[in-house]
Amino acid sequence: MSRRTLRVEIDRALCVGTSNCAEAAPEAYEMDEDCVPHAAEAAAEAALLAGAEACPVGAISLYDRTTGARVYP
Ligand code: SF4
Repeated sequence: MSRRTLRVEIDRALCVGTSNCAEAAPEAYEMDEDCVPHAAEAAAEAALLAGAEACPVGAISLYDRTTGARVYP
């Protein structure tokens, strides 16, 4: 069975730049010089999920790239 790929949506209006996502899952999220997180969508689903769950303001949503279904939250 092939691994599903996720699309990551980071709501810039909600994000307050705490870096929790990058600290929880550095292999999936990285902060740029402006304290804006970027996601590596090829990262393991568990890492993408861990970073999304660590966000205190719910700025990160995950979707199944194939079906479009929401995976998180
Ligand atoms: S954890 Fe949430 S608020 Fe903090 S940098 Fe990541 S996306 Fe932004």
